Amino acid sequence: MDMSSFVRETPNHFSLPRRIARLGDLAYNLWWAWNPEALRLFARIDRTLWEQVYHNPVAFLRRVERRHLNAATNDRYFLESYDAVIYAFDQYMNEENTWFKRNYPQLTNQQIAYFSFEFGLHESLPVYAGGLGVLAGDHLKEASDLGLPLAGVGFYYTQGYFSQRITEDGWQETRNLYLNYEELPVVPLVHPEGGPLMVSVTLAGRKVFARILQIQVGRVPLFLLDTDVESNTLADRSLTARLYTSDQEVRISQEILLGIGGLRALRLLGYSPTVWHMNEGHSAFLTIQRLREYVAQGFSLEEAKERIRKTNIFTTHTPVPAGNDEFPLWMMDKYFSHVYNELKMDRDLFIDLGRNMQEWGETFSMPVLALRLSEKCNAVSELHGRVSRRMWHKLWADKKENDIPIFHITNGVHVGTWMARRWRLLFERYLGMDWMDNLDDPEMWMMIDSIPDAEIWAVRRHLKNKLVHYAIERARRHWVTGEAHPVQVVAGGVLLEPYSLTIGFARRFATYKRANLIMRDVDRLIRIITNADMPVQIIFAGKAHPADEPGKLLIQQVYRAVKDSRAGGRLVFLEDYDMNLARLLVQGVDVWMNTPRRPNEASGTSGMKAAMNGVLNFSVLDGWWREGFNGKNGWAIGEEKDYTDPNEQDERDAQSLYATLENEIIPLYYGSRAGDDIPHAWIERIKESMRTLIPQFSTRRMLKEYLQQAYLPAMEAAVQMEALPGEGKRSN
Ligand SMILES: *Cc1c(COP(=O)(O)O)cnc(C)c1O
Repeated sequence: MDMSSFVRETPNHFSLPRRIARLGDLAYNLWWAWNPEALRLFARIDRTLWEQVYHNPVAFLRRVERRHLNAATNDRYFLESYDAVIYAFDQYMNEENTWFKRNYPQLTNQQIAYFSFEFGLHESLPVYAGGLGVLAGDHLKEASDLGLPLAGVGFYYTQGYFSQRITEDGWQETRNLYLNYEELPVVPLVHPEGGPLMVSVTLAGRKVFARILQIQVGRVPLFLLDTDVESNTLADRSLTARLYTSDQEVRISQEILLGIGGLRALRLLGYSPTVWHMNEGHSAFLTIQRLREYVAQGFSLEEAKERIRKTNIFTTHTPVPAGNDEFPLWMMDKYFSHVYNELKMDRDLFIDLGRNMQEWGETFSMPVLALRLSEKCNAVSELHGRVSRRMWHKLWADKKENDIPIFHITNGVHVGTWMARRWRLLFERYLGMDWMDNLDDPEMWMMIDSIPDAEIWAVRRHLKNKLVHYAIERARRHWVTGEAHPVQVVAGGVLLEPYSLTIGFARRFATYKRANLIMRDVDRLIRIITNADMPVQIIFAGKAHPADEPGKLLIQQVYRAVKDSRAGGRLVFLEDYDMNLARLLVQGVDVWMNTPRRPNEASGTSGMKAAMNGVLNFSVLDGWWREGFNGKNGWAIGEEKDYTDPNEQDERDAQSLYATLENEIIPLYYGSRAGDDIPHAWIERIKESMRTLIPQFSTRRMLKEYLQQAYLPAMEAAVQMEALPGEGKRSN
C-alpha cells in the first residue's frame, strides 16, 4: 500500500466565515510557529482567548465566538494582513524552487528519516523536555525552509512533560498534563477501512499497537506514535504517556517502539528512506529492524551490516558515560531472543552489537549500537567531539584517539523561531527584504554597522519591557487565585522594572549546570545587585527532572536567595520554563549567563537564541561558546582549562564571574552613555555579537553541514548500492 491510500485529511471541524476560512488550513501547519505575522492574526481576533489557549491556533478556532470572527471579517486592516499571510503560506508550501532543489536537482527523490525521542516545536505541544527536543524541532523547521526531503519520527506523549510549580519553601511540584489531540495541530491517520492507522511491535512476547499521528511542520511531516489505543492492555496504553521515566522496562519498550515501530510506520506510509538519522541513541533499535529487513531479503549478515552502516547517521549529545542509555543483558534476552533466532545470530554475536563493559559487568548500550552501525557519527561541538572520542576510544582500541571516527557538527538554532519579530522588521529595512535567504552569510552581516544605535536600543528596550510586563502579569494572576503566598509573588517578579541591567539564567536544573555558582558568596552578590547607581536583576528559570533530588535541592537553594529580602526582589525565579518562557527570556534580558562545569555542556543552544536577539553571552568556555567567543562579542567566565579538583574549579569560576560582572559588564552597561542616554559601547558589543554569531550558530549553517558531511555521502552510497545488488540477494 502506499500512503495515498490513507486518510490524512485535515479535520475541518471549524465553522468559519468563508472570507477567512483558510485560517483552518493555517492552524494545522506549524508554519505559524516561525511566522509571527500568522500568529498575530489569531491574537487580533480575540487576544484574551489567544492567551487562554496558550497560543494554540486549533484550540483557538474551536472555541472562538462567532461575533469575534464576524468582527474580523469586517475589519479592513485584518483582512489585509490575512490575505498577506495566506499568500505567503501558499507561496511557501507550493515553492518549486527550494534551496535544495536548486542545488541538488538529481537528489529530490531521496528521503531522509530523522528519529528523535522528543521534538520541541511549540509551547502548545509539550512533548519535549529540553534542549535535545528543541534542537530536533529546529532541525525539522530548517529542513522545511531549505526544502530537504526529510520526515521526522517520534512520540506523542499523552501526558506531555510536566508543568512546574514552586512551593513557598522552594520545593518543585509537578503537575501532569493531558494532551487532547482534537485540540492540537495533530492529525490522527485513519485506516482506509476505518479505525486508526496502526503499527505493532512485539514486547516480551505480547503484541503492542501504536496509532500514528501526523504533525505538519511547514513542508516536513512529523509522525508520532501513541499506544493509547483500545487494542492494548491498560499498562501498554500508558507506555507513551510520559518522557524519560526511570523505569528501565518502560524505557526499553519505548525504545523498541520508536526504533522498530517507527521504521514500520514509515514503511506503512510508503516511505523508503535512503538516509537514517538517529538524534541520540534512543532510536538505535532501528538498526536492528534494518538488519532484519536486509536479512529477510536474502543478504548475508555482513552485507546487511555494511549497507546499514553506509546510510546511518548518529548524533551523540551526551558527554558523560552515566548519561548514556543501556540495558542489562537479561532484559535484552527478554525482549530480543526471538530476534537472535530470526537473524540466525547466537546471543553473543547479537550482544556484541551493543556490548559495553562496565565495572559492574556487561550491558547493552544504545550509543554503542548506534556507533557500531553508523558510518557517520557526530558530536555537537568541537570540544564535545574531543570528549566523545576519548569516551568511546575503547570501541576502537587499535586507533589513536584523534583517529576515532566521531567528528562534530556544532548545533544551531532556527532563526525564524527564536528571533523577535521586531528584529526581523529592522533587518528587512537595513539588510534587505531577502535577508533570511542569506542568514548564514557572514558578508551580509557586515551591514549591521549601518543600523543606527538608537534603533537597536529601541528594540532592546521594547523586548525587555515585554518580559518585565509578562512576569508582573503572571505574578498578578497567581496572586488573585489565592494560591500564592506574598513571598511567591515577589519571587515571581512583581518588583522587576525595565531599566536595570537584567541577567537571565534558564536551563534544566542538573548539578553540573551549577545554577548556584553565582550564590557562592551571597553577600557579594547582594552588594552587586543592590548598588543604587547601577542595579542588576537576575531572572532564574528551569525544571529539574522529577526524580532528580539533587536538582530539586538546587532549585530550593536558588529560591532561598530569591526570597531573601536583602535582594530587594531583584532575584527572581519564574516557574515552568518552556518554549514560551524561553522565548520571552532570550529576547528580553540584557545578558545570558551559563555556568556549566566544563567540559560537561555538549553544546548548549539557549545562548545562541539569546545572541539572535542582541543579548550578550556571559558564559563558561564550554560547548558552543568556546567556538563563538572572540573576546569582543560577550564575556567568558573562567579559563579554558581542565581541572582535576571540582571544588577548585567552582571557586575559580565564581571569582572570575564576580570580577567580570563588577569590573566590565556593569560599568559598560551604565557607563558609555552620552546625552542621548544610549550606551554606545554596549551596542557596539551587541553588533559584534550579532554579526559574528547569527550566521555561525543558525540551523541554516548546521543543516548545510549535515547535508554535506553526512546526508550526501549516505545518499551517494545508497545510489551506488542500488546499482550493485548484493551477493546474497542474487543467491536468494
Ligand atoms: C533552548 C531550550 C533549552 C536548551 O537550552 P540549553 O542552553 O541547552 O540549556 C531547554 N529548554 C527550553 C525550553 C529551550 O527553549
